[in-house]
Amino acid sequence: LTSSPTRAGLHIIHIAAEMAPVAKVGGLGDVVTGLGKALQRKGHLVEIVLPKYDCMQYERIRDLRALDVVVESYFDGRLFKNKVWVGIVEGLPVYFIEPHHPGNFFWRGEVYGEHDDFKRFSFFSRAALELLLQAGKKPDIIHCHDWQTSFVAPLYWDLYAPKGLNSARICFTCHNFEYQGSAPASDLTSCGLDVHQLNRPDRMQDNLAHDRVNPVKGAIVFSNIVTTVSPTYAQEVQTAEGGRGLHVTLNSHSKKFVGILNGIDTDAWNPATDTLLKVQYNANDLQGKAENKEALKKLLRLSSADVKQPLVGCITRLVPQKGVHLIRHAIYRTMELGGQFVLLGSSPVPHIQREFEDIANHFQNHEHARLLLKYDEALSHLIYAASDMFIIPSIFEPCGLTQMIAMRYGSIPIARKTGGLNDSVFDIDDNTIPTQFRNGFTFLTPDEQGLNGALDRALGHYVNSQSWQQLVQKVMRIDLSWDSSALQYEELYEKSVARARATATRN
Ligand code: ADP
Repeated sequence: LTSSPTRAGLHIIHIAAEMAPVAKVGGLGDVVTGLGKALQRKGHLVEIVLPKYDCMQYERIRDLRALDVVVESYFDGRLFKNKVWVGIVEGLPVYFIEPHHPGNFFWRGEVYGEHDDFKRFSFFSRAALELLLQAGKKPDIIHCHDWQTSFVAPLYWDLYAPKGLNSARICFTCHNFEYQGSAPASDLTSCGLDVHQLNRPDRMQDNLAHDRVNPVKGAIVFSNIVTTVSPTYAQEVQTAEGGRGLHVTLNSHSKKFVGILNGIDTDAWNPATDTLLKVQYNANDLQGKAENKEALKKLLRLSSADVKQPLVGCITRLVPQKGVHLIRHAIYRTMELGGQFVLLGSSPVPHIQREFEDIANHFQNHEHARLLLKYDEALSHLIYAASDMFIIPSIFEPCGLTQMIAMRYGSIPIARKTGGLNDSVFDIDDNTIPTQFRNGFTFLTPDEQGLNGALDRALGHYVNSQSWQQLVQKVMRIDLSWDSSALQYEELYEKSVARARATATRN
């Protein structure tokens, strides 16, 4: 196995189910790569452990090779062999675990959504720790993410610290408390955790169903550091309305719980170098933005007759969390107000997908609206660049990346004041916010009137092209990189490591 070089910084290992761009489903994948790169730039040794999926973008992995070792890992009372691969993704060293189990756990053509997700990912969590143990790694921080790798926390303290993998503090980040992975308590045995010890109210027992265990709760209880992806969302999930049953657990562990706003990967999302655009541009030269708008209109057969007509963009998973009824309303309202609208989105929920297919058909040949119901990375770049405004009317939003990407490309966000949107979008007309931070249009009430209040104002402002251009330039210059967020993670890690060392010295 590759050995860990000596270094001055911390040794941080992320164990995750996603990593952009090779295995990305949503924001989690962006965070693992963005945070990892930022911490690496600060001089830390950062490594990632991922499942080896069949559906990865293999062409984005550099120097992929199988290691000359086999890691045996426990599952359902037996040991199974795992082949371990290593490669470089975006400059970060990544270990890929390929289980040799007849269930072909990660050979399913997709990352999530299988009937045995609980078993597949608890298996992976254990195999990842087994790899670290057998490789003789001595990480300072093991950072796990979301319910799929939350098993790492109890597995570490119950099984792996006693085996000698005991150098680390555990950090757990929950990217969305909607997904907790709870399952019948007996399912926990397959990865070797002790159900009788863990199915207790103060440990992993689900707060809403006592015959079930809740992996996210387990990680909250057993990690040294617990984070979520924005300060406002951290507050929301500590209330009965926002906590999805976990607010009580979060409240009793509130000392170690903090919200840190995500950044975006400003290398990957950079209009000045983005080769997926028709023309590159920057805040000092917005002509290129106008050319991208023309190019998108041509590509999508939208009317180019009026260069002053505002274009509203929306790129999203079409799920209830994202405020689908408000997105639908925004399409019609934009049209009423004389704007154009482009939606790029796809839905895992059949009735929502059908509803939007009907709307897409309705606008099939319309001059001012186009709905594209698919996932398309390349097209997403063009829409960020081409649009003047970007709509995110989420019902709840742990952090949200699209408002930040939109800003980087000079598309002004129109957002509901919730979660990370509340921490990153500040209303142009809000006198309580210092002028230099005001960067978009916001609304609070999640209904059509609420949304109109922000959308109508945005389109009203757009008419004054000089002040709109100044706003675009200001928004494009905001620092949305990972630097300041990575600094906060670094401080948390360092404090936790220092506390552990102080305790070890005292004993
Ligand atoms: P979530 O993780 O809840 O889906 P985020 O705003 O945190 O939402 O992250 C969404 C990411 O996925 C962004 O990078 C966005 O550009 C991308 N995305 C969402 N839907 C699509 C789509 N249909 N096509 C291309 N990219 C998409």
